[in-house]
Order: sequence, then C-alpha cells, then structure tokens
Amino acid sequence: MAETDRLLEVIRGRNAKTVGLQFPVGLRTKAVELAQEIEGKTGVTCLVSADPSFGACDVADMPVDLIVHLGHAPMPHLRYHGVFFYDLPGPPLASMDFVDAAERILPKRIGLLTTTQFRHWLPAIRDHLEAKGHTVRIGEPDRRVAYAGQLLGCDYHAATVIEEDVDGYLYIGTGDFHPLGVAILVPDKPVVIADPERGTARDLRDVRERVLRQRHAAIARAREAQIFGIIVSKKIGQARMDLARDLKALAQKYGKQAHLFLMDLVSPELLQGYRVDAWVNTACPRIAIEDVLQYKEPILTPQEFEIVLGERPWDDYVFDEIRA
Ligand code: SF4
Repeated sequence: MAETDRLLEVIRGRNAKTVGLQFPVGLRTKAVELAQEIEGKTGVTCLVSADPSFGACDVADMPVDLIVHLGHAPMPHLRYHGVFFYDLPGPPLASMDFVDAAERILPKRIGLLTTTQFRHWLPAIRDHLEAKGHTVRIGEPDRRVAYAGQLLGCDYHAATVIEEDVDGYLYIGTGDFHPLGVAILVPDKPVVIADPERGTARDLRDVRERVLRQRHAAIARAREAQIFGIIVSKKIGQARMDLARDLKALAQKYGKQAHLFLMDLVSPELLQGYRVDAWVNTACPRIAIEDVLQYKEPILTPQEFEIVLGERPWDDYVFDEIRA
C-alpha cells in the first residue's frame, strides 16, 4: 500500500477533522501538493507547520487531531501521541559507481552506515562489497534509532557497536556531519563517505582535523568565561534537563556562574542580548559543531564544557550524543 493510502486510512479511522503536516526543509516542495490531496480525499483541514523540522526528536505541538511527520523515522524509545510517520525512503539505487570509488580506499572489514534516507540500499551494497572480497557488518540500532546501520547526528550506536569487528567504515550519504561523528568517536579507524549525489568518495580525516581544531579554539576562548548559559531544549527528543542541572552544579563547583536557558528553536539571534560569556548546548548536538561560526560567544558541547572546567582532559574528547 502506498504511504499516502495508509495515511488516508489512518485519518478516516481516527475520524480526524484537522491534520497537521510537518516537513523538513528539503521536503517543503511537497507540502502544498500533499495538503491538497489529503483535503480533497478526506475533507479534513490541513495545517502546515511552517517551523523548521530537524528530526523525529522534534515533533510539532499543533492544535490538530493528527500530526503527519515526514522525512524521519520515529525514535523507538519516545512515546508519540497522535503522530503518523510518513515513510519517505530515497530513490532506488541506480548505480554502484560511487561505492566502487570508495571501495578502492577501504580496508577489508567494513562497517556500513547511512541515514534513514538510504537505509534500503544497504543490503545491495553489502552484497556488492562482499562479492569484491570485503567482510561487511551492519550494526544493530539502539532504542533511539529505527534501522540497522542508521546513524543520527546524536546517536552513533550503529557504528560503535561493531567497532571491534571492523577496520573502517563506509558511510553512504551526502553530508559530512554523520561520518564526522564516527571519525571522532572511533579515531583509529578510517571513515570513508560515498556520496550518491556527487558520485564521489573521500576519506573524512581532513574534515575531522579541521573540526577538532575549531573545537579546540572554542574551548580555549571559553576558558576566559565567568558566566555560562546552558541551553535546554523543549523538543521531545532533545530535552536534557537533568544533564543541564548537573552541568550547572559542576560550574558552581569550579567557581563559575551558570544559568539555564529554555528554548524551542536554538538560534544565534534568539540568544543575543544576554550577559553570558559562553554557551553550553544540551539540545541537538549538531548546533554547537555546525553553527559555531554563527555565534558571537563560544558555544560548547557538554563534554567540551567539562574540558573547560578541568573536569575532563582534552585527550578524552568525545562527540556529544543523546543515547536512549
Ligand atoms: S537531536 Fe539533532 S541530530 Fe538528533 S535526531 Fe534530532 S535533529 Fe537529528
């Protein structure tokens, strides 16, 4: 059954009168068309959430009978109420050229990783690589992740669970962030990204070194800070209030001031004007790493804050994760 038919059945079964639609930025082009189709076929009123949607950690709070969340797989450990996850896997695998480009720089035993968008390609890619003499492992997910081999920017379990069984990783996908997390968490093994859109493959080592230099600089700047703002998210899958409280207590132990800031969307504009010398982000781990240049003050992960305070040595640097 097509996903839209499954959705229409759920709408009718629930006798919903209002339906909220939540799209990640890359799928916004489908919003008007889907709203039109749902309204035409069921008579409901659709409400499109115009706020950004970053993951299954972030389901909109909408005054509707049913929320339709597109583009992300649900997080098994979360309890969603009245949410339909509209499954939209990416296109079929058309060519193995980008995998072959990666194969030339891969070790023998490989861990295969991707995001939800390309998860349906993994069995064919595993078979292809095994036919070329590699041993391929696809790590089982933890409770935050829906599929084997799937990474989230906040959960690298599918990589670390097979760490002992592989000599390196092949990441199938388009952005640097997910494989970067693996390269930092498992520093002694190569991580190669095979990009199906560009048709290219490359080792992540240079990106890893550049990002670590950037993190080192943020930590060095934050050592001067006296007043820290600890950001806590309101989003269902990003809220880490206990961690934020622990970090506040840790700051006090080291004679620093720290205050909690509760937010939905974390952005540099919304943090302007506060008398804070540095930020510590307990919301989505991508924010401190990817958006660092947009913030006037240094913005740190929780583990980096521990380094600033002297609680953790730089040699014990780890990537921030929200594990279930
Ligand atoms: S917390 Fe961040 S990295 Fe994790 S799923 Fe949400 S948006 Fe993605």
